[in-house]
Amino acid sequence: MFTKILIANRGEIAVRVIKTCRRLGIATVVVYSDADAGSLAVEMADETVHIGASPAAQSYLVADKIIAACKETGAQAIHPGFGFLSENAGFAQRCADEGLVFIGPNPGAIQAMGDKIESKKFAQAAGVSCVPGHIGEIADTAEAVTIAEQIGYPVMIKASAGGGGKGIRVAWNRQDVEEGFPAVRAEAKASFGDDRIFIEKFIESPRHIEIQVLGDKHGNVVHLFERECSIQRRNQKVIEEAPSPLLDEATRAAMGAQAVALAKAVNYDSAGTVEFVAGQDKSFFFLEMNTRLQVEHPVTELITGLDLVEQMIRSAWGEKLAFQQSDLKINGWAIESRIYAEDPYRKFLPSIGRLVRYAPPEEGEKDGYTVRNDAGVREGDEISMYYDPMISKLCSWAPTRLAAIDGMGRALEDFHIEGLGQNIPFLAAVMDQERFRSGKISTNYIKDEFPDGFAGTNPTPDQLDILTAVGAAMQRVYAARARSYASGLAGPPREDWVVAVGHAKRNVKVSEHDDGVTIHLVDEGRSLSLTAIDWRPGKPVFRARLDGQAFTVQVAPAAEGFTIRHRAAKARVLVLTPRNAELHDRLPEKKAADTSKLVLSPMPGLVVSMDVAAGQLVREGEVVCVLEAMKMQNIIRAERDGTVKAVNAKSGDPVAADEILVEFA
Ligand code: ADP
Ligand code: ADP
Ligand code: MG
Repeated sequence: MFTKILIANRGEIAVRVIKTCRRLGIATVVVYSDADAGSLAVEMADETVHIGASPAAQSYLVADKIIAACKETGAQAIHPGFGFLSENAGFAQRCADEGLVFIGPNPGAIQAMGDKIESKKFAQAAGVSCVPGHIGEIADTAEAVTIAEQIGYPVMIKASAGGGGKGIRVAWNRQDVEEGFPAVRAEAKASFGDDRIFIEKFIESPRHIEIQVLGDKHGNVVHLFERECSIQRRNQKVIEEAPSPLLDEATRAAMGAQAVALAKAVNYDSAGTVEFVAGQDKSFFFLEMNTRLQVEHPVTELITGLDLVEQMIRSAWGEKLAFQQSDLKINGWAIESRIYAEDPYRKFLPSIGRLVRYAPPEEGEKDGYTVRNDAGVREGDEISMYYDPMISKLCSWAPTRLAAIDGMGRALEDFHIEGLGQNIPFLAAVMDQERFRSGKISTNYIKDEFPDGFAGTNPTPDQLDILTAVGAAMQRVYAARARSYASGLAGPPREDWVVAVGHAKRNVKVSEHDDGVTIHLVDEGRSLSLTAIDWRPGKPVFRARLDGQAFTVQVAPAAEGFTIRHRAAKARVLVLTPRNAELHDRLPEKKAADTSKLVLSPMPGLVVSMDVAAGQLVREGEVVCVLEAMKMQNIIRAERDGTVKAVNAKSGDPVAADEILVEFA
């Protein structure tokens, strides 16, 4: 077996590979850029090599530096993780030429499958069912329009070298193609250094189902069943699960067989993923093959008990697969939530910054579910603008799908992050949705269920009880503290309070009992019992049991009261004396500022083009400007007709979030 492996990646996947190497007794070398000098992966590795400046093009993508780091440290093999050089056939070949082992498939397989246009030609020849479309390069916008009209709208414009949901756009009509083709091409050039574009039919409301395959260098290939990754935003996966609630045994076997046939046809000899779009009727079409470890591999590990990184290392060393297809079976259900540094309340804008607080739920088994959290960060670390804005991958496993969803809901409650925007409340909202729980999902799920974006959810009756009880209990602790400072306040604490959760007011009587606090709901004639309270003033997380049921909420002091969030339900909670509650009813509501005449920058970024000028009449839907942020080109459109009064930014300007770009008269 190898004695030393170099990891040519960063973040959570570098940490993930180190963990397996440690278990196998293999020493690790991690390469790092300036931005990652103090990272967890660097701390955990046995040896580290600095390879350059923060931009990936000056560090993680520079093959020469990675090869040199191997030579310098005596590493025999390179695990590329995902992204960066992982699907670069030239790099895999270079490793071989230098006498180093690339822990991934052979360069021929990467070459054949690593490119969307090439892999479709290959899959077609191998008898795999493909999405109808034009499998070839497109020269210019005029040709793109012709081809789109031959295929019939809607179509999908795709960068052949695309990945991670980037370099993809749907076109519903001619105008979309005219705008989308150059945009995808520019994005492809900027992100992948390759501007070849193709067009295929857009399958409406499909599901994304992919098959994990695993091969060795002796001609054996098996599949490790499917993952469903239909919960996507902008074609980027957000929640994944294994197995898929859509598939029956026969469809699973048919997809598995096609995936294995395709893998065998290219002598596939490592872990890889064959992606399909599937109709609700269980028809399926090949999308692409990812010739690498996949971000969402943990859900497959949780249902098969296999360690995919270990399998990749063993196969790279030349070992035969230790099992056959008939030895494999699905055990239970696993779900993964990608925790991103993005602000769900503001259209999911990237929200980079420092993890002022980072407290993930405990890993391991608890209350009938198992938690796994793959992360490459610690409290105090920064999520920088240079790389993927993923904070961690939170997984739950349980014997059934519903138990795994419930476990994920609880694990999300227990995850506390401060310092930047993060999508935990959004993920929790999905776990609580009846449609998600029923398994009737599609890649349109987020658009269907959150048509106007995400603004949190209204508390359910159970959540209203939690928020009421927590507010009352917190107030009681603060009041007791105040009383202990003020000598004049003798006598028992006040029992009668009015708890306002948002606009809903309830009269309560609060008293203590042996193990916690009782909140009597006067108007409803019933009581809530809080026990096992784990909280003290200043702590941002409040854990307890409500009538025996464990829960966790995130709490923060706010003007006059508290802000309390349970999953996706966030509310301001005021605990008032009956007299103050009356006065409160008479206070006028504060109005939000009118921003309807302003076009604000939705995110920090760079203005690529400013398409309007002062005095110009602009119609609803017309392009106002184009912003580039996180390597994506974002078209900002006018939300209504109007005349431009002032333009405050020009092409090339860096802009902050909420900066006023254009004012309408
Ligand atoms: P990437 O390399 O970015 O993963 P894919 O080709 O796998 O690109 O597509 C990403 C996602 O876009 C898919 O998971 C699916 O949701 C959607 N998608 C891709 N192609 C189609 C299509 N032809 N019809 C409908 N949806 C598609
Ligand atoms: P898909 O290509 O089907 O969307 P994944 O969802 O597994 O596959 O996403 C993998 C992609 O995400 C990579 O190709 C890369 O663009 C991006 N990515 C995610 N994490 C990282 C990382 N740590 N380093 C580099 N790229 C990453
Ligand atoms: Mg894909």
